[in-house]
Amino acid sequence: MQNSVISRTGQLWKLAVAVILLLVGSIVPAFESSGMSWTVGTILAVVGYAFGVYAIRCPDCGNRWFWSAALDASWYGPLFRKPACPACKREFGGR
Ligand SMILES: [Zn+2]
Repeated sequence: MQNSVISRTGQLWKLAVAVILLLVGSIVPAFESSGMSWTVGTILAVVGYAFGVYAIRCPDCGNRWFWSAALDASWYGPLFRKPACPACKREFGGR
């Protein structure tokens, strides 16, 4: 994960925000005491997913990695394991 292209391009926080929103939106409404309705939860989850898809992109070629991964699941492996953009093959150095 540390060597993934996502963390090397400094976009790990965007992924974290997207995942947290997705989790909160799909888990918190299950607890009645939380006071969060399923409508609000669904909106949170959708916003989180959309944010991840639109905000995480290659700084070089602009490819939206998670959009591409949504269309072709074989992208997930390289995104999380390789330091290079799966679209333009540009390798990003560590920070
Ligand atoms: Zn690229």
